[in-house]
Amino acid sequence: MHILHTCSYVLAIAVYVSGSICVCSCRRSNDSKHFCFYQSTRDLQTILNILCILNELVSVGGGRRVGVLVSKGGTAILLQLLITTSKEWPPSEELMLQLHTILAKVGPKDRKFGIKARINGALNITVSLLKQNLQNHKLLLPCLQVLRVYSANSVNAVSLGKNGVVELLFKIIGPYSKKNTSILKVTLDTLAALLKSKANARRAVDRTYVPTLLAVYQDWHRNDTRHRHVHIRKAILGCIRNITNIKLGRKAFLEADGMRILYSTSTECLSVRTLDPLINTSSLIMRKCFPKNRLPVPTIRSVFHYQLPHIPAEGPVAQLYRQPPDVDDVVDESDDNDDTEADTENDTENEEDEKNHKTQNDDIETDISKLRPKENLTRPLEDLKMYECFFPELSENFQGYSFDSSKSCQTPAVLPKSLAPIVVPTAHAPSPLSLAQGELTDLPLDLDSICISKDGPGGAGGAGEGLAQELERVALEEDTLNGQSQSPVVGSLQGELEHDDDCSSHSSGELGVLEVPDTAALLPLHDPELYIDMVKGTKSVPQYTEVAYPDYFGHVAPTFREHILERVYGVQRAKIFQDIERMIHPNDILDKVVYDLDLKRSPVIDDGESLKFNSQFESGNLRKAVQVRKFEYDLILNSDINSNHYHQWFYFEVSGMRVGSSYRFNIINCEKVNSQFNYGMQVLMYSVQEAISGHPRWVRTGTEICYYKNHFSRSSIAAGGQKGKSYYTMTFTVTFQYRDDVCYFAYHYPYTYSTLKMHLQKLEALRTPQIYLRQDVLCETLGGNSCPLLTITAMPQSSSNDQICQFKNRPYVFLTARVHPGETNASWVMKGTLEFLMSPSPMAQSLRESYVFKIVPMLNPDGVINGNHRCSLSGEDLNRQWQRPSPDLHPTIFHTKGLLQYLSSIQRVPLVYCDYHGHSRKKNVFMYGCSIKETLWQTNVNAAACDLQEDLSYRTLPKILSQLAPAFSMASCSFVVEKSKESTARVVVWREIGVQKSYTMESTLCGCDQGKYKGLQIGTRELEEMGAQFCIALLRLKRLSSPLEFRNSSHFLDVENDLIESRCKVTSSTTYVLDEDEPSFMEEVDYSAESNDEPEPDPDPQETPADEDGLSDSELALRRS
Ligand SMILES: [Zn+2]
Repeated sequence: MHILHTCSYVLAIAVYVSGSICVCSCRRSNDSKHFCFYQSTRDLQTILNILCILNELVSVGGGRRVGVLVSKGGTAILLQLLITTSKEWPPSEELMLQLHTILAKVGPKDRKFGIKARINGALNITVSLLKQNLQNHKLLLPCLQVLRVYSANSVNAVSLGKNGVVELLFKIIGPYSKKNTSILKVTLDTLAALLKSKANARRAVDRTYVPTLLAVYQDWHRNDTRHRHVHIRKAILGCIRNITNIKLGRKAFLEADGMRILYSTSTECLSVRTLDPLINTSSLIMRKCFPKNRLPVPTIRSVFHYQLPHIPAEGPVAQLYRQPPDVDDVVDESDDNDDTEADTENDTENEEDEKNHKTQNDDIETDISKLRPKENLTRPLEDLKMYECFFPELSENFQGYSFDSSKSCQTPAVLPKSLAPIVVPTAHAPSPLSLAQGELTDLPLDLDSICISKDGPGGAGGAGEGLAQELERVALEEDTLNGQSQSPVVGSLQGELEHDDDCSSHSSGELGVLEVPDTAALLPLHDPELYIDMVKGTKSVPQYTEVAYPDYFGHVAPTFREHILERVYGVQRAKIFQDIERMIHPNDILDKVVYDLDLKRSPVIDDGESLKFNSQFESGNLRKAVQVRKFEYDLILNSDINSNHYHQWFYFEVSGMRVGSSYRFNIINCEKVNSQFNYGMQVLMYSVQEAISGHPRWVRTGTEICYYKNHFSRSSIAAGGQKGKSYYTMTFTVTFQYRDDVCYFAYHYPYTYSTLKMHLQKLEALRTPQIYLRQDVLCETLGGNSCPLLTITAMPQSSSNDQICQFKNRPYVFLTARVHPGETNASWVMKGTLEFLMSPSPMAQSLRESYVFKIVPMLNPDGVINGNHRCSLSGEDLNRQWQRPSPDLHPTIFHTKGLLQYLSSIQRVPLVYCDYHGHSRKKNVFMYGCSIKETLWQTNVNAAACDLQEDLSYRTLPKILSQLAPAFSMASCSFVVEKSKESTARVVVWREIGVQKSYTMESTLCGCDQGKYKGLQIGTRELEEMGAQFCIALLRLKRLSSPLEFRNSSHFLDVENDLIESRCKVTSSTTYVLDEDEPSFMEEVDYSAESNDEPEPDPDPQETPADEDGLSDSELALRRS
């Protein structure tokens, strides 16, 4: 009775489906015929007939008919039928065959099929049917197909595993045979699905199925010579891949000689392009199973030690100091929780949850009170008084200054360039002064004592002595005694460059005697001698005495174009195979340390056989170099001081090269999951031979560049509580052109602190009587270096009241740069800005007459000097300290904020604030700003956003820039305030100081994908141009705000349209930013995915369109993009 009832429903569905087919102009069947069936469904035969019809109906017309069946509740009815028929009489083979055939079609179209099957108790029926019919191939196939759908559900997978299905499937898997390949394929797919459960993977390891699978794979590899069954071979690899997601599986794989097996089968496949999917999967498995190693360094903490005046109570540095000594040992691999049965009952059960789980960014600030201006100043007014001396322009009346002597370049007597640093009082140094600038030179400042009081032991205190000692050492080594002056040594390899006779006459005091390329005409702001002078005053933690040639000679931007590299297919795979060979053929590996800063006395190991490395100069970063093969070197970067990570910046010297050989360099401790090195960015190289022959320049260089996860990792404790973190390799290949060359490699165009000081001195020379330029020292850094502060505006035309009044009332523009030392591009942009501001052009003059510029061109001198990437000596990211900067740990931020707070306290809040940065993961130049409305739009607090009045002019400056500057992209800008950014300059200056136009300007390290520079890598010329265009944009901003021009330029303020555009766009969840400089990666490709422990399931190879000729997913995505 039951059955009949159910069957009538099935029939009803059959009728319905057939009806819809009729509508679809398939008129073979007629309704009355089906109606007859409806009346006579009384026995097994009838049910079979109905199922036959149903089967026929759903076999044609693609998936649409099945879709209808599913949407009408067909799945449940069919499953019910399966249950009842299996209960009421010994199951009819024919009925089971028909039912499973339909279920195999329905299952993949019903997202809840797995759950429904489990709830109805269908799993065991299929399983027992399988057990009884292992030899019955006709029935086996549909049953396996249904089982494959069951297994896709993780809860089902666990329960099926407990019922012995893994073992059952292994009975079906056999050696190579041309027969029954479809059954084998479905079996393998089902097995792969089951093995995603850790419990099942463990079961498979216990039953020693790993060597079995490897043997089966080899068998198919050997016999499938015409590659007819690539899908089966891929499916076997799929099983191995899932088993090796657990630690035991990886162990079993290694013990079964899996590395060698997959390596040799893969290399045999290399010549056949259609076998790429096999090679890619094999490579993924091998990388995963490659034993994790710790980096070959004694500790991942910085090799340089700097004792902080005090260690903050909490935060990353406190954590670092609390760590036990052997903390970076890789204790374990990623799946520590192997033994918990966490993967059992609640994995992907709730699809509803998944659906509701929108990709909401939980970093968006939703607390409106945190978006509203913060009124109360954190520092009392009396305290801010000390900054008055940095603003003499506000009180100056220019009496007695002769304005008509326009020819004389005489600096106004009241405005001397400050000679001695102003030491702003800090907690350690009680206020020595709040005096006018002119009196400074008379101050009884004992600079030495200040240095000592500020430097802890191990700091740069007593640098003079240290310098001399270092010099002596270097001088001895260099065999040039009597180095009486404190001249730093230029480079370290004079000997190798002495081929030039003119250079051999070492004059007594000069160590670095080289023919300096005559670039004065091309580089008006560069002066090698002045650079050396500047270096003498620069205090580094390692007490560097050498100067790198590129900084000494300078850089003349090349005139040729440097294109973003096209990625060559298969490069990453080839590199990974070379890495795997290290394990396969360990005897071919030299493993010879050739440079090691941990050997403090003699880091350079030179036996004439290997390349010679050096990084002991300002901004240098290279900790260790290991020669792996004759022409291959592993390089390890140094962590930021007082930190155990943040390495990305590199700058080092190489010599002793052979001409014409290709050298492979691998930086093996990169941290980011992806890099622009995967998207066409090259490293920079500077050849001293080229420089001497008249081309002192950094050029983009390197081939076979790629970036991928490697087999080095650190312990979870060292990684700050996160799971053990893998490192990434950035590899590049270089062929050197000159014999006896000295070459330098860098992450980006270097720009040292000494370079800044040299440029600032040279800027003085550009001063005209129209220009008001002041250079002050804002404060001293922890490392004892001064932090320069510039004031640039126009001199008043006369001392008349009107003129002085206009002078004093110019709005302020406040600019900062280089808080992150690795972002050297920020300094090049700043250089462009400064040179524009000092230029004699009418536009520059007009700009000077419009604003007073306050500029801190380098917020983090210590970080820059010591080759840090992100932090200052305090081991902290200074751009996360703006809310509560500490006067002794973050003096540059504390006092820069102080200047802004002072301006705010006297009602002179700047019109614009901008902090220049560099961006490592995006192309173009763009800005981040702050808008309450645009932030709230990201959330669901729309009601609140609508009430809110907000001045939209924060969009004007970026808009102008997008029209002016070819590298600038409005589409990449974002005006969202993120929680993680609440202590950055941009957000604090906006919220606490009240600067509406407060920005971060990010310049790409790579290149542009739009505008005039589309397809080109960025160079210093473009960066400097950007800095100049920023100035021009400010001038236009000024003109726009004057009523006369406003009318004519209203298109600039077409903000409403803009906003609508951007509002549509932001819902795509990609325009807002995830973390300061590295927003969520916007390009499709993610190479890290290839090596993830839980990779995405591969699409069924049979379903993959043929034109995608076996590229890996990531490479396909790359091709599409
Ligand atoms: Zn930055």
